[in-house]
Amino acid sequence: MTTIMTDGLTADAVARIRQDFPVLDQLVNGRPLVYLDNAATTQKPRAVIDAISNYYLHNNSNVHRGVHTLSQRATDDFEAGREAIRRFINAPDAGEVIYVRGATEGLNLVANSYGRKYFKAGDEVIITGMEHHSNIVPWQILGQEIGIRLRVIPFNDDGELLMDEYERMLNDRTRLVSVVHQSNALGTVNPIETIAELAHARGVPVMVDAAQSIPHMPVDVQALGADFLTFSGHKMYGPTGIGILWGRADLLNDMPPYQSGGEMIRSVTFEETTYNVLPHKFEAGTPDIAGAIGLGAAVEYLEAIGMARISAYERALMRYGAERLSGIEGVRLIGTAAERGGILSFYMESAHAHDIGTILDAEGIAVRTGHHCAQPVMARYEVPATVRASLSFYNTTDEIDALIKGIDRVIEVFG
Ligand code: PMP
Repeated sequence: MTTIMTDGLTADAVARIRQDFPVLDQLVNGRPLVYLDNAATTQKPRAVIDAISNYYLHNNSNVHRGVHTLSQRATDDFEAGREAIRRFINAPDAGEVIYVRGATEGLNLVANSYGRKYFKAGDEVIITGMEHHSNIVPWQILGQEIGIRLRVIPFNDDGELLMDEYERMLNDRTRLVSVVHQSNALGTVNPIETIAELAHARGVPVMVDAAQSIPHMPVDVQALGADFLTFSGHKMYGPTGIGILWGRADLLNDMPPYQSGGEMIRSVTFEETTYNVLPHKFEAGTPDIAGAIGLGAAVEYLEAIGMARISAYERALMRYGAERLSGIEGVRLIGTAAERGGILSFYMESAHAHDIGTILDAEGIAVRTGHHCAQPVMARYEVPATVRASLSFYNTTDEIDALIKGIDRVIEVFG
């Protein structure tokens, strides 16, 4: 090992953690797998896999509707997952924690329910220039239908928001500020507390896309000053198909349902339907029960390691990687904000990102190449695509060294 990581987690602790992730222990193209695509999705610890198997092996049943024992067990575990999430994000009440499919659905829910109820032509929604497409397109669709206007906070060359511009953008027409907490393309961690303070001074609520922050740092909805916050289970060591929308109860209570059908009703006649209480009003149909139980297990796994330690370790690893990458001639780091998480996005003039990704894959190294569902970020830096290595607490300095060696190989091939 080149450097001993002293921040957050020791090398021994990381070695033990790696044993919790069966998938990491394999050869890919004859080389030990180096998994550096954690921003796309993280690997799953055995605790999560076991929780899902346990549900299907012993408790499989629908939730909330049955009086029989299996249904009660399934309901208890499903609701325990919700309570684990509530604790994890410090939400005041578990009723505010709504199971959705992921961050994409969380954003669409707020756009379609909150937006359709409260926005009218000429109103403005503020986002940042570094949003994932899922925090751009739902507002654009509303724009076409209702006539709202999207305002975009620009950022500097390092990938830091221009907060003066943001302050100037807030006005009497602003109805919502919807911002990414940590950028998936740049790694920038945005100052949500300040963004929220300024918005709240004008009575404007704030939606936070926490898809990339929740797996990597402590996220406290009350400390952030968020009004809505969403994230995906699969990026935080849980299963795919499940995620969370958290919202303030007073806002959620006043919003119309997003989808309708079973579970979200209190009573139905052909003349009239009344809706269920939170969170059920927003959970139409049979939910992803196994997913919710797996997500609860993921939260417990993360809590056992500790989010502050995870954050310190991953940032130290990122700094090590950034230093090594910037030492290579021809490599341009994209995203150099002072406040940033474990994302190493880079561009090489000499080789296309996809070719770099293919060469790295031959070495057993998994990175993501492309626009990372953030095409406006690529446009801002005038690059077609980047290579993105995204880190987890199970990654090591040895793996960063393997990445650097892989890039040396790219330079051998492409010059
Ligand atoms: N926001 C950000 C910042 C993301 O990185 C992603 C996933 N790449 C999403 C939203 C969407 O997440 P999902 O596809 O899981 O809904």
